Amino acid sequence: MATFQISDDSLSLQDKIILITGGASGIGKATVELCLKHGATVVAGDINPPQDLEETDRFKFVKVDVTLWESLRGVFVQAEKWFGRIDHVFANAGVATTTDFLDAKLDENGELLPPNMRTINVNLIGVLNTVHLAAHFIQKHSRHRAEGELGSIVVTASTSSFQNFSAGDYTITKHAVLGIIRGLEHQIEGQVRLNAVAPSWTATGMIPSAFIESLGVGVQAPELVAKSVALLFTDQQRHAEVIYSWDGKYQEVNKAKGG
Ligand code: NAD
Repeated sequence: MATFQISDDSLSLQDKIILITGGASGIGKATVELCLKHGATVVAGDINPPQDLEETDRFKFVKVDVTLWESLRGVFVQAEKWFGRIDHVFANAGVATTTDFLDAKLDENGELLPPNMRTINVNLIGVLNTVHLAAHFIQKHSRHRAEGELGSIVVTASTSSFQNFSAGDYTITKHAVLGIIRGLEHQIEGQVRLNAVAPSWTATGMIPSAFIESLGVGVQAPELVAKSVALLFTDQQRHAEVIYSWDGKYQEVNKAKGG
């Protein structure tokens, strides 16, 4: 499949109100910075405070745990209170898997305990709930946008959405993130655009660089992934699409529309 470039000139986010989960570091933080650079106002939600990002009149931070509905809803409510509307949402908060889903733990009576759901709760339930809230809040303010212009949601998938080279829990969630697009694209079409980015190995705090080096694969800067997110926010023609990013090269892969 052909690769394409994304030029900074093609990104248009002036005066948009953008909410980003997992915005304190890595891909989320790079997206916060790119959106600010292009004139947007940004609210970042994260369980940890942002690294080297000062609040301004165009950038606010809210502490949130995306696995908790009330906490997550609070970020949307707060963003609306501050800025009056929400145009685009990046459902990006995620964790790498440190557990094995099938790992069997027994209680003191020798009974099987439920599986560790942390990765599923953050990477899947957190994203689903973010999409649910985003669809509601973006549509609520549609009259504030130009005629025919739609707000959008971008979710963070992964190369693990197509293959399995990581622990099971993570692969389950990243396949499921594409399932969210396939499952909701028709329900939401014409009201909110829903797309995904699927980054290859990216230099963030999530995966130790020594581990990536041991695989003998290259690693991209998070700023390159941020560009694909900003393109999906900008381009009104994009709905139910997945942009795979690898070292400044982008491909539209496995369009959710085409299956
Ligand atoms: P990162 O660790 O730098 O960023 C993830 C952010 O999510 C962190 O700031 C973290 O505090 C936040 N977060 C975690 N749990 C949270 C919770 N319960 N509530 C709110 N915030 C929470 O890593 P990253 O690589 O930038 O990851 C961002 C996304 O990119 C994730 O969804 C990840 O799965 C995906 N991704 C990463 C890579 C990679 O190689 N780094 C590749 C493909 C996809």
